[in-house]
Amino acid sequence: MSSPSLSGASEPPDPNLGPVLIDANELQARVTELGRQITDDYAGRAPLLVGVLKGAFMFMSDLARAVRLPVEFDFMAVASYGSSTKASGVVRIVKDLDLDLSGRHVLLVEDIVDSGLTLSYLRRNLLARGPASLEVCALLVKEGIQEREPDFRYVGFRIPPTFVIGYGLDIAERYRNLPYICAWAG
Ligand code: 5GP
Repeated sequence: MSSPSLSGASEPPDPNLGPVLIDANELQARVTELGRQITDDYAGRAPLLVGVLKGAFMFMSDLARAVRLPVEFDFMAVASYGSSTKASGVVRIVKDLDLDLSGRHVLLVEDIVDSGLTLSYLRRNLLARGPASLEVCALLVKEGIQEREPDFRYVGFRIPPTFVIGYGLDIAERYRNLPYICAWAG
């Protein structure tokens, strides 16, 4: 497969972009399904969507528009890989939530689960704030990496354990605006 270009057919192919794993249509179709499922599961409630910045911003935005309920939003940022493609195992809150979680039905929206360390840290951290419920919606889960199967209610796609970019996911802050998910070939 040839490398996709970043901004259109007139651009030269970017050699850093590997094969497309999930194209824009597949993403939108799955996000719509997830939104429908969340709408059914949370009927009569007003869930609080908690997005993990920066990677989840695009997924969260599309997901929220597919949920037909009066949702509220909050965001937190955790330290990421920086410019490396390896898990550090260290999770640090860089920006905390603005809202109080007590008594709220919280849905944590994650971009990608690799080792699962970030998710298990966030789960413990958010549970300690006394929400009425806490569920996780992860767009991507890498297969065969996590020591134990992490506990999430909603998963967009299970992918092979390869480094991916696009649809919010970066490498050194670039490529987040790709409308699809592709492998990093750089
Ligand atoms: P974990 O703690 O599960 O090992 O890593 C989770 C975080 O690492 C994600 O929220 C994301 O920021 C980053 N990450 C993990 N795998 C990838 C990947 O394939 N591509 C990108 N861009 N970020 C990743």
